Amino acid sequence: MNCQYCNNPVPPQVSNCPSCGAPVPQQNNPSPDRPVPPPPGVNNPVQQVKNPTLAALLSCLVPGLGQLYNGQTTKGIVIILANIALAVITGGVSAVAILIVAIIDALKIAEKINRGATVGEWEFF
Ligand SMILES: [Zn+2]
Repeated sequence: MNCQYCNNPVPPQVSNCPSCGAPVPQQNNPSPDRPVPPPPGVNNPVQQVKNPTLAALLSCLVPGLGQLYNGQTTKGIVIILANIALAVITGGVSAVAILIVAIIDALKIAEKINRGATVGEWEFF
């Protein structure tokens, strides 16, 4: 592109001509004929669907696994490790409580994701 005043070449994305200092019209407006497609995965309902029953079932097998399935990676790993550590300390008593919480949590978070809600990494229920 050349400056419309002095006709010297003007690099893209500059607001003023480097030769004469004249303002350069910005050309980064997207053409109305070719709308910019959204990036893949955004507003794609197929990728957002979680199976709440599967999430609950996974947390029933291993508390934290349903959370991993829901995309809450850090939370899932922490639940898995905390469950093992607490079970050693409490002689397995804590495992029952963590199991119930993990199952309900995986179910509720999966349903929340399916409703299109934004679920934080550490969000419960
Ligand atoms: Zn110029």
